[in-house]
Amino acid sequence: NTPLHELDPDVAAAVDAELLRQQSTLEMIASENFAPVAVMEAQGSVLTNKYAEGYPGRRYYGGCEHVDVVEQIAIDRIKALFGAEHANVQPHSGAQANAAAMFALLKPGDTIMGLNLAHGGHLTHGMKINFSGKLYNVVAYHVDDATGEVDMAEVERLAKESKPKLIVAGWSAYPRQLDFAAFRRIADEVGAYLMVDMAHFAGLVAAGLHPNPVPHAHVVTTTTHKTLGGPRGGVILSTAELAKKINSAVFPGQQGGPLEHVIAAKAVSFKVAASEEFKERQQRTLDGARILAERLVQADVTEHGVSVLTGGTDVHLVLVDLRNSELDGQQAEDRLHGLGITVNRNAIPNDPRPPMVTSGLRIGTPALATRGFQAEDFAEVADIIAEALKPSYDADALSARVTALAGKHPLYPGLK
Ligand code: PLP
Repeated sequence: NTPLHELDPDVAAAVDAELLRQQSTLEMIASENFAPVAVMEAQGSVLTNKYAEGYPGRRYYGGCEHVDVVEQIAIDRIKALFGAEHANVQPHSGAQANAAAMFALLKPGDTIMGLNLAHGGHLTHGMKINFSGKLYNVVAYHVDDATGEVDMAEVERLAKESKPKLIVAGWSAYPRQLDFAAFRRIADEVGAYLMVDMAHFAGLVAAGLHPNPVPHAHVVTTTTHKTLGGPRGGVILSTAELAKKINSAVFPGQQGGPLEHVIAAKAVSFKVAASEEFKERQQRTLDGARILAERLVQADVTEHGVSVLTGGTDVHLVLVDLRNSELDGQQAEDRLHGLGITVNRNAIPNDPRPPMVTSGLRIGTPALATRGFQAEDFAEVADIIAEALKPSYDADALSARVTALAGKHPLYPGLK
């Protein structure tokens, strides 16, 4: 029972340093969040010791009576949260949820459609060297050049031409809402399954602040650690009709033993996601992204070649367009990192710069909203970012403003 600090001071030191980094900087990576202490407690519990291949009530190992309770709670809670007929809470990650869902519905060589990676899609939606691009014939759709929004006319045309077996609607870097009903109509016209990957916006859906894809899609996948605010992991929701196929694709199709400690942490986060406090937090997340977009399209910023894709946002992130700026995505990311603001550079549609450099930044507000940021705090961080993206800026003054914001909203105050 030797504590970590005694048993392994090297690992403990790195964990401590990471806690300090999270506490002292402003986390604006759109796919990140801060899990509640109770979620981390469940994840760090004795459930990590248990093998439980199978599903509640039908396991291939003895001694599963308590993990059965935990997994059933997680299933029941997430079904209620999103109004789904079936839930599988075992995928170890979002990528594995997508792999299992595709494995359940497709055969190698089948045609799938997904949003092009450079236009905001995810690797698992058909990128060439991902499993999805290697196993399936991929026909990618895109955003419209003029509006920056998904080109539904192209989706319909490509679907009719290529007759996919599956259409994936979902994104990792896109600032608007998708029209799930239109995707379903197109899928039905060509006899395809519709799979929505709501990994990024699941928290907004849970709070009732974003349309729910569940009534429209055959299958909905998500991660649990982004806007949803839980432990790292994945979930698959589906119709009752597809339940058996989905379950056997996850286990034994893709995975062995489920991570019951993570499933316990998922269950806790689903309880939190059904609360009024969570709804209020998601509203601040959306307000923060809107404030950020508004401040970055003001004339004193745009005159330096900085703009915002689609001119704004309906979700928890803003995509900054640096195609006309002297700063490239890498330089902008590094500059903000130097001030204590963490974002990621991101390729944008028709990006003239190479993928390791890019001409875009993806900036998200979920983690700061979890930290307690209010509208005035988001306005302040937006102004700091706007100043930092200009050709000349006062790094010391901006760093001090970042430190003040971090101090105003302490993160994990009880943790050491
Ligand atoms: N799907 C989408 C839309 C994502 O943005 C991501 C991660 O960024 C994933 C799936 C994959 O999730 P994970 O990193 O847990 O495999």
